Amino acid sequence: MTGQFHTLPIHQIHQLLIDKKISSMELTQAMLRRAYEIDPKISSYVTITDDLALEQARQADDRIASGENITPLTGIPFALKDCISTRGVRTTCSSKILAEYVPQYSATVVNKLADAGAVLMGKTNMDEFGMGSSCENSAFVDTRNPWDLERVPGGSSGGSAAAVSASLCSFSLGEDTGGSVRMPAGFCNVTGIKPTYGRVSRYGLISLVSSFDCIGPMTRDVQDCAIVLEAIAGKDERDSTTFNSPVPQYHQDLNKSVKGMTIGIPKEYFVSGMEAGVESSIQEAIRTYEALGMKVREVSLPNTRYALPVYYLLLMAEASSNLARFDGTRFGLSVSENARDVIDIYLQTRREGFGDEVKRRIMLGAYALSSGYYDAYYLKAQKVRTLLRRDFETALASVDILLAPTSPTTAFKLGEKTNDPLEMYLSDIYVVATNPAGVPALALPCGFSKGMPVGMQLIGRHLDEQTLFQVGHAYQQVTDWHEQLPPI
Ligand code: GLN
Repeated sequence: MTGQFHTLPIHQIHQLLIDKKISSMELTQAMLRRAYEIDPKISSYVTITDDLALEQARQADDRIASGENITPLTGIPFALKDCISTRGVRTTCSSKILAEYVPQYSATVVNKLADAGAVLMGKTNMDEFGMGSSCENSAFVDTRNPWDLERVPGGSSGGSAAAVSASLCSFSLGEDTGGSVRMPAGFCNVTGIKPTYGRVSRYGLISLVSSFDCIGPMTRDVQDCAIVLEAIAGKDERDSTTFNSPVPQYHQDLNKSVKGMTIGIPKEYFVSGMEAGVESSIQEAIRTYEALGMKVREVSLPNTRYALPVYYLLLMAEASSNLARFDGTRFGLSVSENARDVIDIYLQTRREGFGDEVKRRIMLGAYALSSGYYDAYYLKAQKVRTLLRRDFETALASVDILLAPTSPTTAFKLGEKTNDPLEMYLSDIYVVATNPAGVPALALPCGFSKGMPVGMQLIGRHLDEQTLFQVGHAYQQVTDWHEQLPPI
């Protein structure tokens, strides 16, 4: 069978595979050809793992032929953000300091996907160590938005979003510390979820902020997102922050009616500065939900104005500590030329290996943690973090989910915000509060503004991904925004 099967969602490809209408080998070869042909224009991949992909596709076909041990992901090509460790495949965090680093073990999510029979196509570009909102902080290349090559794909999981959007894989995994799955999903017309903190193992994820980081799927639709989350979630002995509670069969309850449920609209999220086309798309989504029989109420998240400062302060503090391990004596780059002593090796390696944004955050983080400033900055931010968590708890006690945009604007132009870090941080305004609070949030396409995709997010209670999927799926049953493909 030939045709546009690379654009299909996982659940449809799965059916074609088990009906033997296509093989995983055909699909994988077609995806690889497409990646070599199209990716030079958008640069979503930093590494393409051809040999591994073809070998895994062959194994998947054997598995399908035997009729045993077939999962919804068997034979499905996927991509991984390059901060997720892959044994034997270089894992760079798009940083010069890890450009040649080849891990000796794989992340738990990678092992789970391999066990499910999924096919790894390659590793995707990102802002260095996850620090950024446009993919322009990669040490290697700027990823471009498949909807408009002059615009950014969002960040930091920009490569993972662009690869799904341009049909260069059937799904990808991103990492969301402060919006990095949801914001690029919104910019590229992709569905993505930041699960509850602790729902998915972080073992093998190169840490940015250990207390915020979440690995999450990026897919064509909500049904696929449910399928992938089901495969990667769960307790992991190697990550003590993972939950014991069993992983629900998310994809089975997707069709439950949403009638009578209540959506909360956080009033603090609708302020001036929002692009008119974004606001009107969100308003229309709200009307769609009303037509589905849902009730809509305004709610308040009163501490929203502290979300960005609290997020960035805690991020910088934790990141400065996490990134201390990259010192030229353990992993990756080591610059020891003419070094007088080991301190010299640390200094030279870090000076050469880290980009400007990473250095900026390490310096600010170290400052916030230093004696005399720790109480004033770090401790204070931790206290306000509790208030942010309570905001969500209080709001979600009276409604089933919250609905908000993923970003105040659609994708901006390359270079537009690179000279002003604060402007760049402001584009994260709607996505950062959920991470300090730990709550799950699902991003999905909800329209277009001047030809560029608009994303909305549904935010839910701890461990209640099920409701997010149910409400997101109901929307995708009556709209077709998620089916729109970029011109590329
Ligand atoms: N834009 C956020 C930042 O720069 C994204 C972080 C993330 O989720 N990895 O911190």
